[in-house]
Amino acid sequence: MFNLDFKNYGHLEKKHKEWCVSHSALPTPNPHLGNEFIDWLYSIQDDIYTLKPRDMLEALSNLIRTIQEGNVLNPILFNALFESNFLFWELQKKQNVFCFVFSWPEGPGFQRIKSLLVKRASRRANSDLEDALRAEGLLDELTNVLSGTEGNSLFQKAKKYLQHDGNIKIPVESVLGNNNFYDFVQFCSNHFNYKKFSSQREGWGPYPLIDELRNTVCPYCNRSYTHSVFEDDIFGGRPELDHFLSKSFFPFFALSVYNLIPVCHSCNHAKLDKHVVKIADGQAEYTHLHPNVAEDNVLNTRMFETEQEGDLLTFLMQNDFSLRGKIRITGNCKARTKVKNSLELYKLAFNGVDERLIGYYTDHYKDIERTLNLVKQYPQSAIESIADLVKEDSKTLQRVFVENLVSESPWEEPLGKLKSDLLESIVSSLDFEAEES
Ligand SMILES: [Zn+2]
Repeated sequence: MFNLDFKNYGHLEKKHKEWCVSHSALPTPNPHLGNEFIDWLYSIQDDIYTLKPRDMLEALSNLIRTIQEGNVLNPILFNALFESNFLFWELQKKQNVFCFVFSWPEGPGFQRIKSLLVKRASRRANSDLEDALRAEGLLDELTNVLSGTEGNSLFQKAKKYLQHDGNIKIPVESVLGNNNFYDFVQFCSNHFNYKKFSSQREGWGPYPLIDELRNTVCPYCNRSYTHSVFEDDIFGGRPELDHFLSKSFFPFFALSVYNLIPVCHSCNHAKLDKHVVKIADGQAEYTHLHPNVAEDNVLNTRMFETEQEGDLLTFLMQNDFSLRGKIRITGNCKARTKVKNSLELYKLAFNGVDERLIGYYTDHYKDIERTLNLVKQYPQSAIESIADLVKEDSKTLQRVFVENLVSESPWEEPLGKLKSDLLESIVSSLDFEAEES
């Protein structure tokens, strides 16, 4: 959510690449020449450890093109699904099957199929599903894809992969005509050895990397400190390194330096193997804020404001200020969808039932209140005497007190962004009133 600001890290790239090339290099020449996916990997091998986040997207788009141009067994089905958002692939642990993942297409035909799958398996449900698939021209293709799976009826088989409460997951082996993709994933898992890097205690490794990044608070949640305790040969502790593009889906980016984000345990755990990238119009794009993408830096955009209307300062001075349920995300926030997705992913703030905001941020209201209540430590009579002394009106003075609480470097303080946004929204509501009067 908050940018790591990598701009002067040329030397970091150099050190990191040196380590990767000497500790985890790909064998040369390519021992699997002719496997289109491994050939793709070798075509980017010189840059893979230092690819910028945008170039990673470009590489992924190329990889997807390789799939599309290859031997696709069920092109009609694949393309019908691909037209909506392709969310790459994942291992379905229960079935131990690698699947291509798609979000549900928007069209009415697919929405009907989705609603049918909510039902229980029955003869009636099965024939309804068949009708709906036939209407989309996909009955034969889907039957074909699911033929090897368990279950008696098409309905039972389809329920496993067309999840009405999740995504559509089609086994890779039903889409691709050979084992090249499996061999590729296996090859990558063997040759991008993140475990070796993360346990490194001499020379370059996670400690010096985190040290050089110098970020103090988790860039995903802005709640917890992410310091490391590291000096000479003391490896006292460090934040976790999240793979922004999950290493279980994208093992070839497991050592890529811009993909390693120092984060708190809570965020790392919340994110796990969630999809944060999709294909839209043939191009890969991030669906969540990336700490190493400049346009995703929302630090200078006010994201939160209070719902209290009217003279907030007076309200603040005279009432017990309670924020519970009163934090809202501003309507004009840039990258709004990404912000929303990220706040939800890290469980920070999202809509619960009846649009009530829930999440860690709403539970942090006590911290925010404590800051805001600092203003109240100046009694009204004291403010009036000081105002008299410096020949200012007491309102201006109160405003100065609030302004002083706005942090100059909110990204370095837990909840800094939330606090400074709320305080700034109070100050700007004063500006608005001043203009009106
Ligand atoms: Zn965090």
